[in-house]
Amino acid sequence: MKRIAVLTSGGDAPGMNAAIRAVVRSSSYYNMEVYGVERGYIGLIGGDMHMLSRRTVSDTIQRGGTILRTARSDEFNTYEGRKKAAESLANNNVEGLVVIGGDGSLRGANDLYSDFGIKTVGIPGTIDNDLGYTDRTIGFDTAVNTAVNAINNLRDTMSSHERVVIVQVMGRHSGQIALHAGLAGGAEVILVPEHPVDFDEVASVLLRGAAVGKTSGIVVLAEGACPLDEAMKEIKARTGLSLRSTVLGYIQRGGSPSMEDRVLASRLGIRAVELLKENKGGLVVGIQGNDVIDLPIKDALAVKPRFDEKLFEQAKMLSL
Ligand code: ADP
Repeated sequence: MKRIAVLTSGGDAPGMNAAIRAVVRSSSYYNMEVYGVERGYIGLIGGDMHMLSRRTVSDTIQRGGTILRTARSDEFNTYEGRKKAAESLANNNVEGLVVIGGDGSLRGANDLYSDFGIKTVGIPGTIDNDLGYTDRTIGFDTAVNTAVNAINNLRDTMSSHERVVIVQVMGRHSGQIALHAGLAGGAEVILVPEHPVDFDEVASVLLRGAAVGKTSGIVVLAEGACPLDEAMKEIKARTGLSLRSTVLGYIQRGGSPSMEDRVLASRLGIRAVELLKENKGGLVVGIQGNDVIDLPIKDALAVKPRFDEKLFEQAKMLSL
């Protein structure tokens, strides 16, 4: 291939810029041209793309968000919308497309491949780490570290005042951020959508903690586990402890990417370009163990996200 394009789509994640940079620089290394598409599939439908040089990605590896901007496009969910997108690639003589985004964006990349034969390669970019085929998605490590730092700060205040705090973290239907932030932050309780919430058990853990002299209690609540106000009400009613809550929200989506996310994004970006160089498409890249892997997007998306039950049990083991 002589010319490819790259876009970011769906929710932004720290490390997306490092992935764009890797795509641009490895393409240049292999003597391929790269177009950057603005605002994900919206820009693809509208033909909003321009050439990226090695220098246009200078000074971006450390920046959160995405320099190409990102969006959600309802039109792209229709066959007609995707047809326009395929046409704008053809009009610009673009032969392959790298899509950086979450599961929805990767499904879109697969549709472009199956409907119009566009050679697409997906890179998993989402803080949620909710794709079963890859051990990690770009942005997860940074988001978890942001949550851990927030928990550290909350712990100072909560122990000074002898209070319990419920920290709500992101993750949509996944408890991955909650599990890792909870374990690394030393939380007493971690509530995830993968397990039914048992408030009697939560209350007993917190009361036991108070009885053995713990000065603070941290409850990490995944947004998909249960509503925050319900957790506040039920825990208050069962314990009578002094309770506060904090919603971390979009704080977790931004910020400078961690070393892990920069390295992952760089490795996946390079592999995506190498696959296109070999004229392959309809694929996603990911990481298993320390190996970069690729497989058909449709097979990848059929793999159910895994929740690390053992780590969940271990977090409980250490929490008292
Ligand atoms: P994420 O990629 O972060 O999961 P979304 O699920 O919102 O975010 O998907 C981003 C965009 O990808 C959507 O706005 C839509 O344009 C496209 N998309 C999502 N699901 C599909 C699908 N099943 N088929 C085609 N395109 C899709």
